[in-house]
Amino acid sequence: MIVYSARYHIDIGLHVFPTDKYRRVHDRLIATDVCRPSDFVEPGPASWDDLALVHTADYLAKLRSGAMAIEDIAQLELPWSAEVVEGFRLMVGGTLAAAVIATSQESPLTRPANPQAPIPNPLGIHLGGGLHHAFPNHGEGFCPFNDVAVAVRVLQRHGLERVAIVDLDVHHGNGTAFIFESDPRVFTFSMHQQHNYPMWKPRGSLDIGLADGTHDATYLAALEGALPEVMAHRPECVFYLAGADPYEDDQLGGLRLSKDGLRARDRLVFDAVRSASTPLVVVLAGGYARRIEDTVAIHTATVEEALRG
Ligand SMILES: [Zn+2]
Repeated sequence: MIVYSARYHIDIGLHVFPTDKYRRVHDRLIATDVCRPSDFVEPGPASWDDLALVHTADYLAKLRSGAMAIEDIAQLELPWSAEVVEGFRLMVGGTLAAAVIATSQESPLTRPANPQAPIPNPLGIHLGGGLHHAFPNHGEGFCPFNDVAVAVRVLQRHGLERVAIVDLDVHHGNGTAFIFESDPRVFTFSMHQQHNYPMWKPRGSLDIGLADGTHDATYLAALEGALPEVMAHRPECVFYLAGADPYEDDQLGGLRLSKDGLRARDRLVFDAVRSASTPLVVVLAGGYARRIEDTVAIHTATVEEALRG
């Protein structure tokens, strides 16, 4: 099952963030016979109570009412509308649904009766999410809510303790690092372009800031070196932000990864997580290639590799 909603195609006007990439990835997965229409499941929106596990009441009230100051909108870099808020609330629900799929096939958010019983397919894929720039008290960088952080808090509430976040978007996962800075149960790993947004990069458990123009071989070697440290945390669930923006022709990224390099990146992550039999949640995160077809091809390849088993 793959989590997706056509309602992720949110109208944000003329924008570098192509919100129709989700629909395009969905359509391409079907057109290329990687998935059938029946493989997709539509999420419900995250509840405001779930969002409040991460976000402050003041910030959520501003988002709900639209009482956003000009500075808030400038920092979020998205227009405010009820459709934007509801679309992204749905997207948080999508990551939560994928986390439920990954961590339990039987009954949502409960452990199997026999804890020794293997989980049949500990994988949840979300064609959306990865909103890693959202902080508790504000949104920024196209991210009104931090979907992965909300999902982690919900899993924790249901007894799951140790989580790892592997964030391979080209931009540092600043909101996520900040949220979990003082929670030793959550290992946050971000590998990103150092000299790029965000300026302020709160410290995560493991941060690798790469030089401008880093190519496939250097990138993959750094990733291969880092993954054992992530898995040494012995996570009970791994969230993977498979950003497409380390791609060489991305408008908001300055790394030089090829499509083959990005596919190899995905494989390294999937192999490391699978060899530990750890439930895995995959979210798409950023992607702003000059040609939207490239962003769609990169995200589609991630799903293909995830399903390869
Ligand atoms: Zn990004």
